[in-house]
Amino acid sequence: MAGEPQADCLFCKIVEGNIPATIVRETETTLAFRDINPQAPSHVLVIPKAHHADAASLAAAAPELAADVLREAGHVAADEEIVEHGYRVVFNTGAGAGQTVFHAHAHVLGGRGLQWPPG
Ligand code: AMP
Ligand code: ZN
Repeated sequence: MAGEPQADCLFCKIVEGNIPATIVRETETTLAFRDINPQAPSHVLVIPKAHHADAASLAAAAPELAADVLREAGHVAADEEIVEHGYRVVFNTGAGAGQTVFHAHAHVLGGRGLQWPPG
C-alpha cells in the first residue's frame, strides 16, 4: 500500500537503517544521502521516508510530502554550495528513463557543467 514500507525496497531499508548510507540531511519526513555511484562531484538523493513508487504517484498521494522532498533538494544544494553555479533536480520515472529503484527519489546533481538536453 502507498506509504507503507516495502520489504523488498532498497530505500525503505536505508530509511529503516538496515542498509548503511552516507546521510547528509534528515527531517521527520525525508532523508538525503550520497549516491553510491556519483555522476557529478555533488550527487545526493532526497527521498520521502514513506514508500511511494515514483514522483508522480508521490505527488498524487501525498502532495505535502512531495513538497518536503523538493524543499530538501534545495537545502541540499545550498549545503553542497552548488546553487551559484547551477544544479539539477531529476526524478527518473520508469525503467525506460533509467529508474532502477522504485521508491521516489530526487537526484540533486551539481559541481560540474551539466549538459542540456540530458542523455
Ligand atoms: P535511479 O536509477 O534514478 O532509480 O536512481 C537510483 C540511484 O540509487 C542510482 O543513482 C544508484 O547509484 C543509487 N543507489 C543504489 N544503491 C544505493 C545505495 N545503497 N546507497 C546510495 N545510493 C544507491
Ligand atoms: Zn521504499
